[in-house]
Amino acid sequence: MRIFHTPDTARHDPERYWRRGTPIPHPEQAARYAILRDAALRGGHALAAPGDHGLDPIRAVHDPDYVAFLAEAWARRAEMPGIGDEILTGAFARPQMHRKPAGLLGLAGLYMADTSTPIRAGTWPAVYGAAQCAVAAADAALASGHAYALCRPPGHHAYADSAGGFCFLNNSAVAAARMLAATGGPVAILDIDVHHGNGTQGIFYARADVLTVSVHADPSDYFPFFAGYADETGEGPGAGFNGNLPLPPGSGDAPWLAAVEAGLARVAAHAPRGLVVALGLDAAEDDPIGALRVTQAGFEAAAARIAEAGLPTALVQEGGYLCAALPRNLTAFLAAFDAAR
Ligand SMILES: [Zn+2]
Repeated sequence: MRIFHTPDTARHDPERYWRRGTPIPHPEQAARYAILRDAALRGGHALAAPGDHGLDPIRAVHDPDYVAFLAEAWARRAEMPGIGDEILTGAFARPQMHRKPAGLLGLAGLYMADTSTPIRAGTWPAVYGAAQCAVAAADAALASGHAYALCRPPGHHAYADSAGGFCFLNNSAVAAARMLAATGGPVAILDIDVHHGNGTQGIFYARADVLTVSVHADPSDYFPFFAGYADETGEGPGAGFNGNLPLPPGSGDAPWLAAVEAGLARVAAHAPRGLVVALGLDAAEDDPIGALRVTQAGFEAAAARIAEAGLPTALVQEGGYLCAALPRNLTAFLAAFDAAR
């Protein structure tokens, strides 16, 4: 397995996060980079730099003005008198209020969904580097069968024009668009992160060329709350090309694997020319913010099923937070995937 990574992704280092009204250490810590990299190293995989593929693969799925905001915000920070070590707002645009303000503070509220995505000194190089890893993994998967992109921060909660849920650029969507451009499509995304891939769904919701399927905890009382329900199946030309498979909180290996297999059946019926797996590891039973109870054996079984589909496959890291099981589950997933290929 080729592993694409860059130390730049550790340059986004959020400190605080409001959870249930209390500031806590941000779960999406820079330490995740080294932990996941070392877990891949322990598996004996070949590590590689992603190269620089520029902004075009990012703009293929993201609004250019939003990308420019992310790229330029830190350099504009003097526009916010009294600013500390991050650009963050507490005022967010609602659907009823959608005018585009000129100032940086207002733009932050226009382009963010919540307070989990502060822009700090190293945020842009980190999210840009993660997106480059996704591009490189997509290319490598098409060339040689499969690859893994060590992306952090994660991406699947980022819409075409908004950050949220720790995510800025939608790495899985970037990888899928890259595969689509190279093959002519169709392609598919299978998201097994414990949280619904709402940004990915949003980006491709009206399109038939990218099938999106997400297996996740029921959003009726869990992030991202406002999307991820089973009756969201796509719209317009994309009708029938989005699938959500929500599971009750606390679900363990058997129902989770059944949902993954159902998702893979949807993928197979689409006959894609490439597959992106949004590889969150936060469905793990030990994950500090997870809501399901998937074991290492569960991840190994899912990896084998996905590998057996036989598709060019880019594994793109999504969630999975600091706990002893995080590196173990990555090492185990990659090994099981390789063994089944
Ligand atoms: Zn997640």
